[in-house]
Amino acid sequence: MDDNRKQNSKSTNVGSKHKGGKLNYDGVANQKVNYCEWCGNQTPMGKTTQAITPILEFIEDKIDLIGREDIWGEYGDWSMIDIDSDLEAELLVYDEMLNNVDKRIICEVCLRTDDRLYKKYYGDMIGEINNDSDDDEDIYIIE
Ligand SMILES: [Zn+2]
Repeated sequence: MDDNRKQNSKSTNVGSKHKGGKLNYDGVANQKVNYCEWCGNQTPMGKTTQAITPILEFIEDKIDLIGREDIWGEYGDWSMIDIDSDLEAELLVYDEMLNNVDKRIICEVCLRTDDRLYKKYYGDMIGEINNDSDDDEDIYIIE
């Protein structure tokens, strides 16, 4: 509804992730203690728009083993690659969770970790649209 409130001049996709998710501020200044939905720790952070799961390194490593382009790439075709059905199911769930983006309370530590992992694993794929990393710090200012 009022997602644009604090985003006024920011139309770039800094912090955008998981195929179109946007990192928005929402009540980051409120005093109430919240609990991170990913790790369960207390956090002063308000809701930001995040996936249901953080990026999981052990899954990303599996993706790398098979070939990132083959799995997530535009021309990836799972029927053409050697992928066992358990892993395929795991990847489907993972993909679905990463795309399940909603307003969630995620702590700063998790956000930083996720951002780092996202750049590590998806940096190449988003290079063209997410190239103003100088602004990154802005995302996490909470006071
Ligand atoms: Zn957390």
